Amino acid sequence: MTETIDLLAQYGPREAMEYDVVVVGGGPAGLSAAIKLKQLAAEAGKEVNVCVLEKGSEVGAHILSGAVMDPQAISELFPDWKERGAPLNTPVTEDRFLFLGASKALKTPAWALPACFQNHGNYIVSLANVTRWLGQQAEQLGVEIFERNGKRLIGLTEPGKGILHIVERLLLEAENLRQASQEYAGEQSGTLSIATTHTQARYVLPRVVQAFRAAFPQVRIALQQSAPEHIAEWVLSGKADIGIATEGLSQFKDLVSFPCYTWSHVVVVPQGHPLLKLTQPVSLADLAAYSLITYDVGFTGRGHIDDAFRSAGIEKDIVLTAMDSDVIQQYVALGLGVGIVASMAIEQGKHHGLEAIEAAHLFKPNITRLAVRRGAYLRAYTYDFILQFAPDLKRADIVAALNEPTS
Ligand SMILES: Cc1cc2nc3c(=O)[nH]c(=O)nc-3n(C[C@H](O)[C@H](O)[C@H](O)COP(=O)(O)OP(=O)(O)OC[C@H]3O[C@@H](n4cnc5c(N)ncnc54)[C@H](O)[C@@H]3O)c2cc1C
Repeated sequence: MTETIDLLAQYGPREAMEYDVVVVGGGPAGLSAAIKLKQLAAEAGKEVNVCVLEKGSEVGAHILSGAVMDPQAISELFPDWKERGAPLNTPVTEDRFLFLGASKALKTPAWALPACFQNHGNYIVSLANVTRWLGQQAEQLGVEIFERNGKRLIGLTEPGKGILHIVERLLLEAENLRQASQEYAGEQSGTLSIATTHTQARYVLPRVVQAFRAAFPQVRIALQQSAPEHIAEWVLSGKADIGIATEGLSQFKDLVSFPCYTWSHVVVVPQGHPLLKLTQPVSLADLAAYSLITYDVGFTGRGHIDDAFRSAGIEKDIVLTAMDSDVIQQYVALGLGVGIVASMAIEQGKHHGLEAIEAAHLFKPNITRLAVRRGAYLRAYTYDFILQFAPDLKRADIVAALNEPTS
């Protein structure tokens, strides 16, 4: 039962084809019934969809072959069966009804035989051939015949065979569309997986997540924290729906990334620190006079810090690095150095008894980006999340960017 449910969840309900009449068994009776229905419908000017299901590998394959056939039924079905080439080619010319003894046979005179043994006017046929012929007539009238080959339905009419795989492809695409629209557009429940850095998760996302949860209480959020290169990998592999980081997301051709907001670094120092007494804006040289504590290389705008000192030709002494703004501020509070952190993190700095000093003039601004996999279907709530995170974006622009081919 569990397996059935899993299969349904994975593949959805089985494909179905609708008919007005389904005849099971492509023997003489089944085919005649299908033919008659089509003929009656044509006479009445109506459309009736009829199909015949045959368990044999082809129509006639399961029919006992040799038979003497009374042409009455076929004549009622097709008065012109001869012109149509029905395989009734061998008329009965003589009946011999013999009682077989041990050494000789005794022939019964024709006049003594009951009417059912009188075969004058009948034909000696291969019933398999007659059945195949009936099958062709049925197909010409538009009856669809499904034959079984192993466990796979094959067959249909010749033109039907030709278009079958096209139809199958269309059905698959239609199913994809149905699932996509149901799964990604309509549903209000599921999991939104966000790969991001500590700084974003800790300082930026809480207000967005809070508003999002209020709007979509049935959507669970999985926050996965890591370095920017892992964030990109997770989004590319489908492990995360969205990646948010300042570094590394714009370099992958299979990721579509959107600039979301700009931020700067600030300097954080313990209360009473000499840098707080400066009458001029703090300079790189002022900072270089102290041990510095900031982000690991590759994190949270560290590149812009290094660039600024390098361009100014000023030696800096970074004594401690961390990925996490909180950790940096903790060590600044312990007096191990002057901190350089993202402006978003200064609220937390206040909890450590730290003071912030404006440093936007020292380091280039940083742009936090949000990335999704190119070509991905995004659920409706994912768009909502993105638009809450980056209100300047427009849904139509996101859709267009997602579907842009890679150059
Ligand atoms: C030994 C023997 C000799 C005979 N000799 C004569 C004779 O000389 N002259 C004469 O007029 N009649 C003869 N008959 C009778 C004649 O064969 C039958 O009357 C005739 O074949 C019946 O046709 P039908 O379509 O009802 O069934 P069938 O011919 O049995 O056809 C049934 C079809 O349905 C298919 N089928 C069955 N179950 C399924 C399923 N679940 N799903 C899909 N397909 C299914 C089968 O594969 C088969 O193709 C003979 C019969 C036998 C057994």
